[in-house]
Amino acid sequence: MSTQPIAIIGAGLQGLTTALALQQRGEVVRVLERAEGTALETSYANAGMLTPSQVDPWNSPGVGRHLLQSIGRDQSAMLLRLGALPSLMGWGLSFLRHSTPNRHRQATRRAFALARHSIELTAQIREKLGIDYDASTHGTLKVFRSDRAFAASIATAEFLGREGMIFEALDADGVIDTEPQLAEVARELVGGLRFPDDECGDAHLFCRRIAAEVEERGGRIDCGVDVRGLECRGGRVTGLHLEGELVDASRIVVAAGSWSVELLRSAGLRLPVRPAKGYSLTLDAKGIPNTPRIAVVDDTLHTAIVPLGDRLRIAGTAEFAGFDKRVRAPRIRNLSDLLQRVYPSVAARADLGSANAWAGLRPMSSDGLPFIGPTRIGGLFVNSGHGHLGWTMAMGSADLLADLMVGKPTAIDPSPYLAQRAL
Ligand SMILES: Cc1cc2nc3c(=O)[nH]c(=O)nc-3n(C[C@H](O)[C@H](O)[C@H](O)COP(=O)(O)OP(=O)(O)OC[C@H]3O[C@@H](n4cnc5c(N)ncnc54)[C@H](O)[C@@H]3O)c2cc1C
Repeated sequence: MSTQPIAIIGAGLQGLTTALALQQRGEVVRVLERAEGTALETSYANAGMLTPSQVDPWNSPGVGRHLLQSIGRDQSAMLLRLGALPSLMGWGLSFLRHSTPNRHRQATRRAFALARHSIELTAQIREKLGIDYDASTHGTLKVFRSDRAFAASIATAEFLGREGMIFEALDADGVIDTEPQLAEVARELVGGLRFPDDECGDAHLFCRRIAAEVEERGGRIDCGVDVRGLECRGGRVTGLHLEGELVDASRIVVAAGSWSVELLRSAGLRLPVRPAKGYSLTLDAKGIPNTPRIAVVDDTLHTAIVPLGDRLRIAGTAEFAGFDKRVRAPRIRNLSDLLQRVYPSVAARADLGSANAWAGLRPMSSDGLPFIGPTRIGGLFVNSGHGHLGWTMAMGSADLLADLMVGKPTAIDPSPYLAQRAL
């Protein structure tokens, strides 16, 4: 075993869990993070859901038409901004190529295997370290306003049921029995699906605790350090370009979310990942009676309302807008409108004006699966491209990558997620 630290670029969900997984296998790690703290980018205020039940990639059959229709429509749950089109060309074609029914089903099954492994490891580390991240283990309730959408989701659930996912189909009365607070909107609902094994919790709190554990184990986490590029010689990675200096490194993990693309480009590699912007609105729910007890996904509005301790988070929507992280008022309005449509009396009592509005960039792969493992450049590894499932898949992805790096057998078959399919 080498004693030179493994350099990990990025201190989000993937970078931090990778650091811990490598330490657990006896490696020494150094995490380099551009921001002033850990998990301040996409892992900061995501929806917080650990959902093996929602693993179907977003390029479902028909997605192309859907995206074209969304151009210029701020109300669309999935929105394509014209300005982002040039940066999406090659990636977009691959995204569409993977949206055939067969490919989509195959990616869904593969994503489920990783998500299920990951959620088990998340529960184990929560117990082992006694991490409090406002976790809830009540599952997810997905509600439907149209028979067609309900039937399509039942078909997906039945498909994943054959892979071991547990779910329960509910009529409108069953939905209200599960979440009585939805009684106000019962007339609009045609039914729901309950996924009892899903969990939720605050990913940022989780990351902070994992970062503390990495440091307690002797790992170094350097924030405020911008990695400008990778140095490679003779088919191997040899170092990192920081501001004004070149630092030697013979093993590097790129776990820089959407920004992994530019780092890998500096080594001549093209990672098919593009940012898909999403929004969240987090409000203080202390003192509001009858707040939701279970994470609720509204299928029509493609958005989730998630209880996080004393807070409530409304999150969702996808916008292809390049690296523009501006929080746009109409998109945030969509989230508060959703709260109004699902929990009118909570919305009436909530102080939405002081709620925390946030936007983050999901690193979306074009084939719906993350990129994990070695690249064709010796010593250079990747853990990125988890899209809407980066929290759900974090612990499992880190586990796979760490085993691949130290040459141990992996807990599940890594082949569908291997980075070498693109790099
Ligand atoms: C609105 C929204 C809701 C979501 N909801 C869920 C959900 O409910 N469940 C779920 O599973 N997933 C969800 N996700 C997705 C999930 O949040 C992401 O997949 C995950 O956070 C990605 O983690 P990451 O570590 O790959 O990237 P990031 O968290 O973005 O971390 C990458 C880090 O790398 C750093 N970095 C980048 N470039 C450099 C550089 N050159 N030098 C040094 N550091 C660098 C960045 O500063 C950043 O801290 C959601 C995302 C959004 C936007």
